[in-house]
Formats: sequence, structure tokens, C-alpha cells
Amino acid sequence: MIIGLLGIQGDLEEHAEATRKAFLSLGLEGRVLLVRTPEELRRTDALIISGGESTTMWKLLKKSGLFEDLRMYQNPLFGTCAGLILLASGGVGDSEKTGQEFLGKIDAVVNRNAFGRQRESFSVDIEFDDFSSPFHAVFIRAPVIESLGPRGEVLSTYNGKIVAARQDHVLITAFHPELTDDVRVHEYFIRMAASSK
Ligand code: GLN
Repeated sequence: MIIGLLGIQGDLEEHAEATRKAFLSLGLEGRVLLVRTPEELRRTDALIISGGESTTMWKLLKKSGLFEDLRMYQNPLFGTCAGLILLASGGVGDSEKTGQEFLGKIDAVVNRNAFGRQRESFSVDIEFDDFSSPFHAVFIRAPVIESLGPRGEVLSTYNGKIVAARQDHVLITAFHPELTDDVRVHEYFIRMAASSK
């Protein structure tokens, strides 16, 4: 399996490392491909969109033509933080003001920087779907998922806010699972991607 990593911005090396480790721990064959062109995107079986600055990422994707290719992309997707914002279907609050477009890959309305200025970055143990122990989640100027469509499934909440969700083969997390040594969320995505083939 080839997992693409959208190479625009963000913790690319950390995501690549976490994905490689997750392939190993699952005992699956797979590799990571940095994606910067439509050609590279076509070679992937699934794609991760990292954090960064969502409006900047949107502008760069528009410029390179990748935005339209991503709209058509049918394979499994995993968006973290700014990646979550791009995959969403709409925005409220700050996300509405910027006028950025959304890929609409998951029926979710998001609000960027929703944890406010006082708590820009923090980390906390959260429950995640069926994980047998909490996951240490790192939040950096994180968005929240304000609402999910009827096909969406909440995977994690923090302080009453949805911070991880999935719909079919699209996974989104408001936090950065690539910033800890725990690769269970990457394993979760790989399993999702493998089972949708
Ligand atoms: N606040 C950023 C945005 O709105 C996301 C931050 C992140 O990806 N760590 O794009």
C-alpha cells in the first residue's frame, strides 16, 4: 500500500515516520510517498493531509491545481488539524470569515482556532474509539468539529467538543497524532484504508 503525504506544509517527517512505524507494528507492507503533484497523487492508495495553516494550504493547492484533483480523489483520506479543515464540508466562526473553500470529503462543519488564544497549544489524554487506553493528544491552535452529518461517527471528544471523527473512509483529528510516539491513530487509518480496498 502506498500512503501519500501531501507535501505542502506541516509535520511531514513526523507523519511519515509515524506511518512507517504503524505499517511495521501492523505487520503490513507499505510505504510513504510525498505528494506535490497530481501525478504523485494518482500513485497513492490513501492520503494524509497534515497540519499547517489551512488558508495558506488552500491557496497553494489552488495554485498547483491539486485542489481540484483532491476533490476528485476517491481513496481513503486522513486530515489532521489544518488537514481536517480542508477535508470538511463547511466552516463557522473564523473558518467562515477567511472565505476558504473546503474539499467536502466529510460532512462536517468546523471552526478553526476554536480553543481560543488563551489555550493555543496543549496536550491532554483523551479516549479514542475502541482504544483500550487513553491517547495523549497534542493540540496546536486546533479546530473543532462543530457538527457532523448523519453518516459521521464521533471517535473522540474533549471538553464536550468533537475532536476526531470518521465517515466511511475519511478520518479527521483536530490534534496531531504524529507528535507522540504512540502510532495507534496511524494504525487506525491504515486499517481503515486496507479494509476499504
Ligand atoms: N489554526 C490552523 C488553521 O486554522 C491549524 C493549526 C494546525 O494545523 N496546527 O489552519
